[in-house]
Amino acid sequence: MNTENKETELKKSLNFIESIIEEDLKNNKNNGEVYTRFPPEPNGYLHIGHAKSICLNFGLAQSYNGKTNLRFDDTNPEKEDVEYVESIKEDVNWLGFQWEGEPRFTSDYFDQLFEWAVKLINTGYAYVDDQSPEEISSQKGTPTQPGVESPYRNRSIEENMNLFIRMKNGEFKNGEKVLRAKIDMTSPNMHMRDPIIYRILHKEHHRTGDKWCIYPMYDFAHGQSDYIESITHSVCTLEFEIHRPLYDWLLNHLYTDGTIRPRQIEFARLNLSYTIMSKRKLLELVEENLVSGWDDPRMPTISGLRRRGYTPASIRKFAERIGVAKRDNVIDVALLEHSLRDDLNKTAPRVMAVLNPLKIVITNYPEGKEEFVSIENNPEDESMGTREMPFAREIYIEQDDFMEDAPKKFFRLAPEKEVRLKAAYIIKCEEVIKDTEGNIIELHCTYDSESKSGSGTEASKRKVKGTLHWVSAKHAVNAEVRLYDRLFNDEDPAGHKEQDFKEFINPDSLQVLSGCKLEPSLRNANPESRYQFQRLGYFCVDRRDSKQENLVFNRTVSLKDSWSKKNK
Ligand code: ATP
Ligand code: MG
Repeated sequence: MNTENKETELKKSLNFIESIIEEDLKNNKNNGEVYTRFPPEPNGYLHIGHAKSICLNFGLAQSYNGKTNLRFDDTNPEKEDVEYVESIKEDVNWLGFQWEGEPRFTSDYFDQLFEWAVKLINTGYAYVDDQSPEEISSQKGTPTQPGVESPYRNRSIEENMNLFIRMKNGEFKNGEKVLRAKIDMTSPNMHMRDPIIYRILHKEHHRTGDKWCIYPMYDFAHGQSDYIESITHSVCTLEFEIHRPLYDWLLNHLYTDGTIRPRQIEFARLNLSYTIMSKRKLLELVEENLVSGWDDPRMPTISGLRRRGYTPASIRKFAERIGVAKRDNVIDVALLEHSLRDDLNKTAPRVMAVLNPLKIVITNYPEGKEEFVSIENNPEDESMGTREMPFAREIYIEQDDFMEDAPKKFFRLAPEKEVRLKAAYIIKCEEVIKDTEGNIIELHCTYDSESKSGSGTEASKRKVKGTLHWVSAKHAVNAEVRLYDRLFNDEDPAGHKEQDFKEFINPDSLQVLSGCKLEPSLRNANPESRYQFQRLGYFCVDRRDSKQENLVFNRTVSLKDSWSKKNK
């Protein structure tokens, strides 16, 4: 391959944002620096969509030896809270990223933003409007019809300055006046029709207290904050594409030569099937107690995914797999689950757990005898070693691994039938014990004492159709197991005009099992540690509710995708 071909070959594997950055680097734009930021508004917990943006912004900086700021976009004191600030920091760190220096806050820039507003007034590019927000919006026109100029548009610079200072000094009530950029009421872009850039809001701010009663609007704060921080590439979601002319217009009027000028680049936000991603709707679920909180393991929040048992690596891998698109699309949530299984398959130790126990007494096994069987921790990774599991006369198996009137193809336990107990012996069901109502309460079996797995005897190599997981009754650890499933049973729960998204909540999204029996090695399992319960799925120790004397496990994900079959 010649060099030119090699170069095009390399280019093909870049996403469109990387191509832009490489072009900039080639031209030594921004002194060869790459500086990105992640700018959440602290008005809710981060979700998987934000994770996509985090991986993208921090990932770009990592690829190009750059830096990333964490900036709280805290211009709306009505909805914001320190609880959210703390959770956001924790989530970004948990995902595996570290921002440059201290976290930034847009509110730290309120003085500078105010000065810039003054500059716009002084140069004739901003004016105070006395009309109500309703009047202003009624004059905005439509995309095909020009707007109407405000009667206050041509106030003198002196009058505007005077009024703006008085706005700042708290002389007016909420909504009585606003500051607008003076751009063009006939622009085909509605955002350029003299947008409001400052509003009056008598409300304490969680950081600036009562210092301000005027607050900058998002569009006035965002680009300028990028500029203050010398951000080179300001990556945001597609809905801001239409704001870009305003972003650039403001910079044109405030930019000083020789400084870094940020460039806004838009990509398609992540939409996931079976998932709600609006912070407002997620808040509704929390406030109406339809979930146990922002970190309920069914929530698509980062803290929910974490509690569910997701690994940071699986989320980063997912973000990488889906890539960055320029057009809106919907990603199948099965792909996220697939990334998780992929990761856990390699990293999670296999253990035995019985969720719905059925007792077995092995009648020919000596009473009081105990022995150990050896079992691999993960056949995918020998370096994870083996462990010893106790075996004794009484064990538990899963209730649905036994059937009294079994059909031919049932390869588990049935009267007169044999199965192998994983890593242990072959047993045969001899007798079914029932209570007075006819419910099966235990099974009496016999074992083939020569058939111990790995013992090398003829009987140990004997083939039987089924292999079951089991736990020694005497040694078992009790646990509560929470079986989580998708929160919604509709592919697009928010996409129905006539029906509320909450009507699509999956009634089976949580099933709590108590009295589950786990192998004894799990007695001291640490919060958040993840396991494969053999034949059942991946599970993790709940980081909130699990106690050593009262273990709680969450089902992270089943072994296979059962949803795709359900719907086909
Ligand atoms: P809202 O502004 O309605 O409160 P938001 O989801 O846009 O909600 P922000 O806190 O403003 O929340 O988002 C922070 C960053 O995360 C923004 O840069 C935003 O573009 C990005 N982001 C938000 N949702 C997604 C998503 N679904 N996919 C990718 N990026 C997202
Ligand atoms: Mg937003």
